[in-house]
Amino acid sequence: MANAKTILPEEGKNNILITSALPYVNNIPHLGNVIGSVLSADVFSRFSKLRDRPTLFICGTDEYGTATEARARETGQTPKELCDEFHFKHKAIYDWFEIGFDYFGRTTTEQQTVIAQDIFMKLYNNGFLEERTTLQPYCEHHHSFLADRFVEGTCPKCQYDDARGDQCDKCGSLLDALELINPRCKVDGTTPVPKDTTHIFMRLDKIQEDIAKFFAQSSVKGGWSPNGISITKSWLDKGLEGRSITRDLSWGTPVPLPGYEKKVLYVWFDACIGYPSITANYTKDWELWWRNPEQVKLFQFMGKDNVPFHTVIFPGSQLGTKDKWTQLHNISVTEYLNYEQGKFSKSRGIGVFGDGAKETGIPPAVWRYYLIANRPETGDTQFEWKAFIAGNNSELLANVGNFVNRLVKFVNAKLGGVIPEFSAEYTDNSFDFPGFIGEVNTLLAEYVAEMEAVHLRSGLRKFMEISAKGNLILAGRLDNANLANSPERTHAIIGLALNLAYLLASLSSPFMPATGVSIAEQLNAPILSIPDKWSPGALPGGHKIGKAAYLFTRIPEEKEAEWRGKYGGTQASRQAEEDAKAKKAADKARDKERKKAKVRNGWEVSSFDLWRRVWSFRGLGPLRFLRLLSQKITMLISYQKEAAKAASSSTDAPKDAARTEEAKQAKGTEQIKYAEAAEKVETAKDTKVELPLRGVTAEEQAPPPSAAP
Ligand SMILES: [Zn+2]
Ligand SMILES: [Zn+2]
Repeated sequence: MANAKTILPEEGKNNILITSALPYVNNIPHLGNVIGSVLSADVFSRFSKLRDRPTLFICGTDEYGTATEARARETGQTPKELCDEFHFKHKAIYDWFEIGFDYFGRTTTEQQTVIAQDIFMKLYNNGFLEERTTLQPYCEHHHSFLADRFVEGTCPKCQYDDARGDQCDKCGSLLDALELINPRCKVDGTTPVPKDTTHIFMRLDKIQEDIAKFFAQSSVKGGWSPNGISITKSWLDKGLEGRSITRDLSWGTPVPLPGYEKKVLYVWFDACIGYPSITANYTKDWELWWRNPEQVKLFQFMGKDNVPFHTVIFPGSQLGTKDKWTQLHNISVTEYLNYEQGKFSKSRGIGVFGDGAKETGIPPAVWRYYLIANRPETGDTQFEWKAFIAGNNSELLANVGNFVNRLVKFVNAKLGGVIPEFSAEYTDNSFDFPGFIGEVNTLLAEYVAEMEAVHLRSGLRKFMEISAKGNLILAGRLDNANLANSPERTHAIIGLALNLAYLLASLSSPFMPATGVSIAEQLNAPILSIPDKWSPGALPGGHKIGKAAYLFTRIPEEKEAEWRGKYGGTQASRQAEEDAKAKKAADKARDKERKKAKVRNGWEVSSFDLWRRVWSFRGLGPLRFLRLLSQKITMLISYQKEAAKAASSSTDAPKDAARTEEAKQAKGTEQIKYAEAAEKVETAKDTKVELPLRGVTAEEQAPPPSAAP
């Protein structure tokens, strides 16, 4: 890397900038993560380079945030030490998979601070940021605000004494941390106190129009994948809201405003800025890539959980600066790769993680082939050992391996390794030679079109079809008898087939770089660019080829049982996985019911419990109390709105609506007082009322960008 020439866009060329989702640093990637972003991006990057385009492939570890801080506390490291350790672990795994990043950086750099703060200040000066104050549980012992799930206590609904701040595991109620009775900090058991905290919110609602315009243009021009389009559309249709972009943390990019010295930028705002900042660590001329929309096309690869960060939030941040930016051109989104009908689970030892693929002794090319052939492009797919072995034995070995090996061996054994003089225009009645060349060219055009459209699975299929053509032309025509009796025809076949193998060296390279290199070595020629049209003359008569080598070797069928045992967890862990799956399904169904019930009954429940809950927090001054009250009232309004919606859409709506109406009448005057207060708050809402508690914790608004699980 140190000696490699810096890749920069070139005037008048089709310049391609490629990113793959930044993997979160404290997780060891599994096969689903590999195919979900880095491998897919690598295949496209290698293809683009073989199409002679200036192409830069950027990635790195996403390192800031609560998760790193919490993990470091457990391991007794500083966050920096933890990140150093895991950054190199990630890099080693991707190196083994032959991921050819032009630069693999990290988000915890000086450049990240400079660029993120510049974007932040421009958003601020352009009026897209605003300050809002909210109440959050604070631990006075370890001096930190606590996310809901870091608070534990007694459930106000069922009195279960080990409920989490976001949910009670016993009765399934969705909770706010401030509702818990006898709350305690999950880290040290101290009773948290409700404390005001001020955060910066990004007014995505004010940028929505520009984001929608960008989406309408880019999704059509760039040919986004359907899942990328549908996820973005659903966000825009729902309407964007102000979102908190700061956190009470120390491990992050400092917020460049006075009074924010103890806060950092939140990871979902920060992470995508990692792409330009990592590029800036690669070259001081990073702006030639990132501020050059006329000459650079940006392709981004990720799992579907990361889409909104790349299609809404980051483009919104770019647009809000009013600067010139290279923006997303094509987004390629994968669904999930599952493991043998279940989920990858590190804790249960299920699936292939980290070095697991290497430990099988099967070379990266086979893994890459299998993962791309099963890339979850349009729906979830399965990793299965049986299919993995079949992919090697009946596809790679039987098709590509057999073709190249048979040919190279024959020419070495019978012709001294020298290509005989041949005519690419040779014809006779025994075989349709011109038809053969035509068919290869049709398939080549399809290969190129699929790859340009980032349909990597289909591109791989076309590659295999072209290789199959090679076996077809050799079948029954490459042997001693034919060489002796029909030398001219056999020479033509050898010449065509070797040139086809040479084409395959290029076409295989994006998927299986080592395979491409091996074919080229066996042909004693450098890998060429991928052409639009194939004419079988690059390897002429008289050229001396290299020695034969095996591209692939057979995997014994018994390996299936061995690997299934090794990577499938123990019987107990498999049972635990089954149980967890069943429990999760049951929880989900129950949550849905509870949520419905909570929405429908929100009015009664909340007004009934409100005073008790509010007073259950000690040390609440009158101002804080009023603020909490106003938040609760805002919640009630949203409950009411949702209740009305639920009532009108629900099948048993009339009954529920009647019940609600009854309850309201029964409660009479107390309800009316609340309704009046609620109305007042409602009218004042746009000016200066805090958001309801649920949703203020940035973490709950959206998961941090990371590779697909
Ligand atoms: Zn604490
Ligand atoms: Zn409960």
